[in-house]
Amino acid sequence: MSEKKVATTAVRAGINSDKHHGAVVAPIHLSSTYSLKGFNEKRDFDYSRTGNPTRATFGQAIADLEGGSTGIVTSTGMAAVHLICQLLSVGDKVLIPHDCYGGSYRLFVHLAKRGQFDVLVVDQSDEQALAEALVQKPKLVLIETPSNPLLRLVDIEKIASASKAVGAIVAVDNTFLSPILQQPLSLGADIVFHSTTKYINGHSDVVGGVLVTKTNELGEELAWWANCIGITGPAFDSYLALRGLKTLPLRMAAHQENANSVASYLNKHSAVEIVHFPGLEEHPQHELAKRQQIDFGAMLSFELKGGVEAVKVLFDNLSLFTLAQSLGGVESLISHPSTMTHAGMDIEAQKAAGISQTLVRLSVGIEDIEDILADLEVGLSASQSANVSPLSAPSKQPKFRISAAQAAVW
Ligand SMILES: *Cc1c(COP(=O)(O)O)cnc(C)c1O
Repeated sequence: MSEKKVATTAVRAGINSDKHHGAVVAPIHLSSTYSLKGFNEKRDFDYSRTGNPTRATFGQAIADLEGGSTGIVTSTGMAAVHLICQLLSVGDKVLIPHDCYGGSYRLFVHLAKRGQFDVLVVDQSDEQALAEALVQKPKLVLIETPSNPLLRLVDIEKIASASKAVGAIVAVDNTFLSPILQQPLSLGADIVFHSTTKYINGHSDVVGGVLVTKTNELGEELAWWANCIGITGPAFDSYLALRGLKTLPLRMAAHQENANSVASYLNKHSAVEIVHFPGLEEHPQHELAKRQQIDFGAMLSFELKGGVEAVKVLFDNLSLFTLAQSLGGVESLISHPSTMTHAGMDIEAQKAAGISQTLVRLSVGIEDIEDILADLEVGLSASQSANVSPLSAPSKQPKFRISAAQAAVW
């Protein structure tokens, strides 16, 4: 475990590790296989699915930043979630949050349908529901905070200690904040994982994942499974993610500064019904965010007044924000959870999860804040002057219906 400050650990990852040529930056090793020194004389690496120097450097860097022992780099964020599933046997129970990442929800629910384990879907902010689920002694408890897209928080320390009291392994999805802004292992988690596709790589040109364990023992077990099922990440992606990682602390600071300004701007705007951002004092878990997180992050969502037509007008009038899924890249993205990330849920399920059709999610980038705010102003004033009746939305048929085909793909 590194004793250095995070910015130093991020920048120095892999620096001066090349013993052969003295390359300052960790070289990329694309070879799929490695020679033995001689008969039955192995080197550190033998085959790239099992181990690769570039991947090992990146994995160790994230382990150091998270304060864990072992970092396992996977081909995607979902591969990291799937890897955790290897800890479960038939008959075991896994407790997942009702508002976790849609892909995680889909994986757990569908593997449970095939009988690989049983799944308990719980609103973890509901203490009674959580306590009742824990009585069933789950083997694994998954936590994701802040949640997507409503930025709800749950108390990692509290849930981890209650879960461990019944013998569960606790895994936290830390994708939304990165190790720079939240360190779940120090709050009692056994495993922390990321989609490195998001903030860690940060440049929207890699799809990847990483998982860090607190103990060596659990790390060895999961590394064994990662090799066994073949979900380790490619060397090239590790190289790029390691490159992105060096500026992670700087990027997070810039992302956050912009997100704070955007949140207060939206909070005062007459076209906006409500802003969901843990940094706002009126956010229901603002105090928890201050205690549990190192800072508030740069993801936020808001609800527009005036129905789903207002959302369309807003999107049509933005030029800087790109309408796209994903998050955590240097560029600002905007999305409509109801028809995009959460399209797999029918409208009723969306309502139950608190996702309205006027909900808009922002991944605030690191462009100049004046340009970001100017773009939002153009979009919001257009949506306001489009003369959308605020009464039209709830009673009418929704304009953006989720088609059966779309739902089937999910
Ligand atoms: C994107 C994401 C994932 C899945 O990661 P992929 O890299 O897309 O496979 C998991 N959890 C969260 C919170 C995410 O945002």
